Amino acid sequence: MTDLFSKFDPIIAQREALLATGVTDPFNLVMEKVVSPTVAMCNGRETILLGTYNYMGMTFDPDVIAAGKQAFDDFGSGTTGSRVLNGTYAGHKAVEAALCEFYDMKHAMVFSTGYQANLGIISTIAGKGDYIILDIDSHASIWDGCKMGNAEVVPFKHNDLAAMENRLRRLPEDAGKLVILEGVYSMLGDIAPLKDMIAVAKKYGAMVLVDEAHSMGFIGPNGRGVAEDQGCLDDVDFVIGTFSKSVGTVGGFCVSNHPKFEIMRLVCRPYVFTASLPPSVVATAATSVRKLMHAADKRAHLWENSRTLHKGLRDKGFQLGTDEPQSAIISVIMPDLERGAAMWEALLHEGLYVNLARPPATPAGMTLLRCSLCALHSAEQVQTIIGMFTRAGERVGII
Ligand code: PMP
Repeated sequence: MTDLFSKFDPIIAQREALLATGVTDPFNLVMEKVVSPTVAMCNGRETILLGTYNYMGMTFDPDVIAAGKQAFDDFGSGTTGSRVLNGTYAGHKAVEAALCEFYDMKHAMVFSTGYQANLGIISTIAGKGDYIILDIDSHASIWDGCKMGNAEVVPFKHNDLAAMENRLRRLPEDAGKLVILEGVYSMLGDIAPLKDMIAVAKKYGAMVLVDEAHSMGFIGPNGRGVAEDQGCLDDVDFVIGTFSKSVGTVGGFCVSNHPKFEIMRLVCRPYVFTASLPPSVVATAATSVRKLMHAADKRAHLWENSRTLHKGLRDKGFQLGTDEPQSAIISVIMPDLERGAAMWEALLHEGLYVNLARPPATPAGMTLLRCSLCALHSAEQVQTIIGMFTRAGERVGII
């Protein structure tokens, strides 16, 4: 018998070597209690959270919590069924209406996760004989959506407009084409030049899908994302988003103005063949999405936090993923996995949680400490964070 697990031997060896150094397992942290969107108890210690996607701090919003509790009482704990059978409740329609209003678009379709939204929409709309042209640093859910469908997949160099155009130019003129971009790329926290890229995509007759998972609620005058910020949202055919970041719960969605969009509800397998979101989740999501329409002050404070942390870390000598802060993600580049893990642990001992990211999730084989800010981090917390990074960085020998 061939052990089907032997293919994992390299990663098992790498993990064992890392843990043999005595470092705390960075991928096994338990939050014993979550105090607020920015503080949790980890290993019995109060810890500042700088590695969540709780950008707008909605997880403890009193209106959001109240809506969830009410839905539990009114509709029970789960739907026990697919959206196309017994799983569509008033709350599912209400959150889709909230999304249409939030984006000012005609159609919204909610999935059980953002991962499934990408999987479903991409694999369903791009079929045999079609082409998908996508940024090579696209999220795993986008790649998996490509794999699940039958379209020809044509990647291009990250954020490289000329490379994208070169690919498009070589494709048959009359073939169906879908260009897939992200507003914010979550590993380095950089944004895409969407306006220019979408203009080129349209020139070659391609439809455009933009994943705005990390920008929703924060970037753009109304928090609709990078496409809104760059004034090209009207040219986006499909926006993919998630409830697991700024919205503060779980779920995914696609919004679109395509006149035939509603047929997706019957032909999109990751929508049809899975249970719909629980009533409490869609109620919290709808309340949160509606509150995010009026969150300009929080957006402004989050930008302030992002700028302060970026400047503070750069001034201390850390190497960052972007020259300027472009989103709520500030990535700190580590020399290697060992020192990255040591730095991660040193920060945890200081009382700070960040995300450790390493290949294959990261571009160019990089090890990163990814810091994601929250609109509810106080200015004082951001200064505390810079102090923690400085002490840990000096101790580990990174600065
Ligand atoms: N798209 C992007 C760009 C993401 O970063 C993520 C999650 N990190 C997803 C989609 C999937 O979202 P979800 O957590 O709702 O599955």
